[in-house]
Amino acid sequence: MAIEQVDDEPESAAKTIPHWYSADNDDVPTLVDGDGVEVFDADGRAYLDFQSQLYCVNAGHSNQRIIDAIADQLARIPYVSSGKHNDTRNELVTRLLEVAPESMSQTLFSISGSEANEAAVMLAREYADAPKVLTRWRSYHGATYGTASLTGDTDTSSYIQSHAAMTGNAKFLPPIPAAFDAESPDELAEQAANHLEFVIRNEGPDSIAAILTEIVAGSSGGFTAPPGYFERVRELCDEYDILLIADEVITGFGRTGEWFGAQSEGVQPDLMTFAKGVTSSYVPLAGVMMNAAIADYVAEEGFDIGQTFAGHPVGCAAGLAAMDVYEDELLENARSVAPHLESRLTALEERFDVVSSVHGRGLLWGVEFTDPETGEPFVDPRVSDADNPVKSVLSAAGENGAIFGMGRPGIQLLVSPPLCVTETEIDEAVDILENAIETAF
Ligand code: PLP
Repeated sequence: MAIEQVDDEPESAAKTIPHWYSADNDDVPTLVDGDGVEVFDADGRAYLDFQSQLYCVNAGHSNQRIIDAIADQLARIPYVSSGKHNDTRNELVTRLLEVAPESMSQTLFSISGSEANEAAVMLAREYADAPKVLTRWRSYHGATYGTASLTGDTDTSSYIQSHAAMTGNAKFLPPIPAAFDAESPDELAEQAANHLEFVIRNEGPDSIAAILTEIVAGSSGGFTAPPGYFERVRELCDEYDILLIADEVITGFGRTGEWFGAQSEGVQPDLMTFAKGVTSSYVPLAGVMMNAAIADYVAEEGFDIGQTFAGHPVGCAAGLAAMDVYEDELLENARSVAPHLESRLTALEERFDVVSSVHGRGLLWGVEFTDPETGEPFVDPRVSDADNPVKSVLSAAGENGAIFGMGRPGIQLLVSPPLCVTETEIDEAVDILENAIETAF
């Protein structure tokens, strides 16, 4: 069959800087430098990075200990394939297990959060010999063929789902608290857990391999579950023989004040995925941790999904150094400044009637905007986000020197500074945010 030649290339963005990389904010600067919480554009302008880029530069920018560890590893041996032993990689496995929830017993490395979740789900489906995975509506688990279909997020999944591998086997749980009519957090936890049990029974427990959940829903808006909810989820998993997979891609490595979000909930997952913060995102590294029973299963049955760059020694060196930095300095700092961030952000609810709720934990917060007259988001982001005021807030804040994130589906602003942030920087950034809200509304 002849392939049609297209001679007249249309005037397109192909030869320009691709704008879609900055879709959340048209006015994003070109960043060339960074130091701690600050990043600098090509004109030398400083911005407080209260997004940690993508909730991932947990140790702050240009941390010398991590840079040196990367350089040392590169100078020693830059790459060792995943089928062989490497001292740095071995050391990181041991180190991760020291700080992970007690249930964790082994680690399988990966490259990105999506691939770690993909591996966790494949492993769970093999181990449990069951096809279905329950996830939450308004969650984000990745952009690969399988994880996209597990992402219960209206704006992302609506288009990625057309490529989805798991369709039919992914079941979305309603969000907490929007789907329930509870009068207290306790009642909410009970209603949500009862609903989960209903879904499990309705789907058939034997058909469900796992529940995959973020512990604090990250990119959809810093949602925390009501106290006691995860305890009930764990009980239901035990009762119905379903695996609990904690997606710690954002919540890992100090973001919620503990090494992992599961520890802040006191929950023991069966599988746990991590990425982003493990290296403070200086180089890519991700992985899946698993409990002893699953580790034994892998040892006996094998699980042969090695990837060329999984557990890359340079990533592992960065991971070890980042963990040292978290342990020596930043976990404690994150815990000590988090209450100040919380009180500055929750005050926004009082001050602005467009701020309908503020929620989060540690250094991961969502500020939700709602039209006070209708009680609805200002625009339906599934239809258009062209004049979404959250974008205007982000732009105004950016112009005044602070970068925040946009939570999915476009009605939340995300606040997530590096763990080295000071109370003074928090004050500066929240002052900028307050001015930006005044400008935008
Ligand atoms: N899981 C969560 C909770 C995430 O927030 C993300 C990315 O933001 C992912 C998984 C996917 O990670 P990656 O972008 O590294 O593939």
